[in-house]
Amino acid sequence: MAGAGRKTVRSTCPYCGVGCGVLLTPQPDGGLDVRGDPDHPANFGRLCSKGSALGETVGTGHRLLTPRIGGREVSWESALDTVAERFASTIAEHGPDSVAFYVSGQLLTEDYYVANKLMKGFIGSANIDTNSRLCMASTVAGHKRAFGTDTVPGTYEDIEDADLVVLVGSNLAWCHPVLYQRVLAARKARGTRIIVVDPRRTASCDGADMHLALEPGSDVALFNRLLAEIDARGAVDADFLGNTTGFDAALEQARAEDGTATGLSEAQIAAFCTEWIGTEKTVTIFSQGVNQSSSGSDKVNAILNCHLATGRIGKPGCGPLSVTGQPNAMGGREVGGLANMLACHLDLENADHRAAVREFWAAPTVPDAPGLKAVDMFDAVGEGRIKALWIIHTNPAVSMPDADRVRDAITGCDFTVVSDITAETDTARLADVLLPASAWAEKDGTVTNSDRTISRQRAALPAPGSARPDWEILAEVGRRMGWQGAFDYQSPAEIFREYAALSGIAGSFGRDFDISGLVGEDYDALQPTRWPVSARREGGRFFSDGRFFHADQKARLVPVSWRPPVAKTAPRYPFRLNTGRTRDQWHTMTRTALSARLSAHLAEPFLEIHPADAFAKGIGSADLVRVDSPQGSAILRARITDAVRPGQVFAPMHWTGETAPSARIDALVAAVTDPVSGQPESKASVVNVTRLNAA
Ligand code: SF4
Repeated sequence: MAGAGRKTVRSTCPYCGVGCGVLLTPQPDGGLDVRGDPDHPANFGRLCSKGSALGETVGTGHRLLTPRIGGREVSWESALDTVAERFASTIAEHGPDSVAFYVSGQLLTEDYYVANKLMKGFIGSANIDTNSRLCMASTVAGHKRAFGTDTVPGTYEDIEDADLVVLVGSNLAWCHPVLYQRVLAARKARGTRIIVVDPRRTASCDGADMHLALEPGSDVALFNRLLAEIDARGAVDADFLGNTTGFDAALEQARAEDGTATGLSEAQIAAFCTEWIGTEKTVTIFSQGVNQSSSGSDKVNAILNCHLATGRIGKPGCGPLSVTGQPNAMGGREVGGLANMLACHLDLENADHRAAVREFWAAPTVPDAPGLKAVDMFDAVGEGRIKALWIIHTNPAVSMPDADRVRDAITGCDFTVVSDITAETDTARLADVLLPASAWAEKDGTVTNSDRTISRQRAALPAPGSARPDWEILAEVGRRMGWQGAFDYQSPAEIFREYAALSGIAGSFGRDFDISGLVGEDYDALQPTRWPVSARREGGRFFSDGRFFHADQKARLVPVSWRPPVAKTAPRYPFRLNTGRTRDQWHTMTRTALSARLSAHLAEPFLEIHPADAFAKGIGSADLVRVDSPQGSAILRARITDAVRPGQVFAPMHWTGETAPSARIDALVAAVTDPVSGQPESKASVVNVTRLNAA
């Protein structure tokens, strides 16, 4: 295996969407020394606590080493034959839409490409969706509405050129720490001011000049008010507006609201508008507080509207910049890993795009309708419409909203395959077939970070037992289902070259995603590169020419109006539950829990509650509390803090049935979604809190 010796290899951190470069040096005892890569443009040698502890998460004690069927160890031949036969027979009996893949932003681009090709091109269904649906689907939808494609306009360098950074629904300090370090460095170097827009006072507020603790879900009201103020104060960029349509309608909608839904004072709103309007070089960074909402797409467009109206896009030091939660959420978007997309920013619902992809793949079919998005997919599993399900590197029995119901749906599915590095997840325990996959430090491929930089992930350790890379497992199943030629891959390099060649075809449809020149013979030598790589996009910057991807090349300002979260507080459920990450844990902790150092930060699940609410409920510090929602219950340790406002509570999302059976937070979250993006509303559930016996 390439890179499996003792030499240091350059790779990429497998956690958040910052996509930091790492230097990996295998140790004689089987361990791994991990350092920040000083030459990687995302981090220039920096690492956060999670990245620094990566070496503590390798080892084989927790690993799944052999395929299993019904809990029994079997050969790869037997496992792959079983998967292929069961999928083929299900399709033969019930049609292609009776099967589904649920994949992950942990997959490398090459893995994603093969999974997508197998499902959309050869099985003939679009039922492939990803846990990135829970992460950034609203941004994808917002970008497509505004720009015509899912194109992130901003770059990390813009942060260093900005005079104002606005963090909206983003605890950057904990969730994207190295990027936050770049924000702080900009403040030190040029006095960049920082505004945090978040219902909760987070660690990101420690370095902020202003914190706007708005009502949960009211971001549209704030940015609509800003758009109206931009117009009222004569700050519209009339020249740039010529590159757009929809301004009048968006403004009319914005004027119809006055910002009171935010719960902020008039003075706070005025101060925010004055800072934003008065600072040309403004970068607006947004994340899950925007995306994970029943109005997430509208929130994204409300932000984009303000940048488009002022022409603050496509220029150094200004622009909207969404940050993704996972290492390759962006790569998954590029490769069409969502149920409503095709690879290379081509559209599933466009007949010409479908025909081009089908011809390129020499595929029997490409479906003409989107597949099931994550929440709908598990509904279909529960209702028996999906009869064969393959879950790859993700733990939906814990991480999906209404998680108890999802767990029951998977339990009842006729045939479930799970590929993962461990058998010890809530989801893996439900599998009929378990397939041992290689872990991040054993894999070769590419990932794309939040500012469109494509980096190599390189293997530094040999895979233990009989674990195999995901692309290889998927291709084996594709061949066994009868499509030998289409899945006859020998290496990730071969897959990447095919994908890059398809990107060249996408260029003929006006998509500026041509990476066909990126890799010559030496795939392994690929250096971190931000796309687009075409000469006319100097510095990999989009929209500096004022041209967008709609047919008329104009951007759209989208009229949006504030809507409250779907779930309403009531006497039975008087609190609004916010969920999110802690600094030192990652998703459902399958890796970070292996580091004692990381677990020392916040060792157990907890619920933040305001002192006034705690007093009213008779809850003391460190008491155990029961949290009930219409969907489920959890038992957590109370942390009394005024970081949350009265009537609101916060709980981290990491703990699982494996680590804290009574604290599966997503069991409390309702499965309501944004109607445009299908992204669940994970930050505005309603709950009650009652004290259990004091500890
Ligand atoms: Fe890894 Fe993100 Fe930390 Fe960078 S900031 S080291 S990518 S977790």
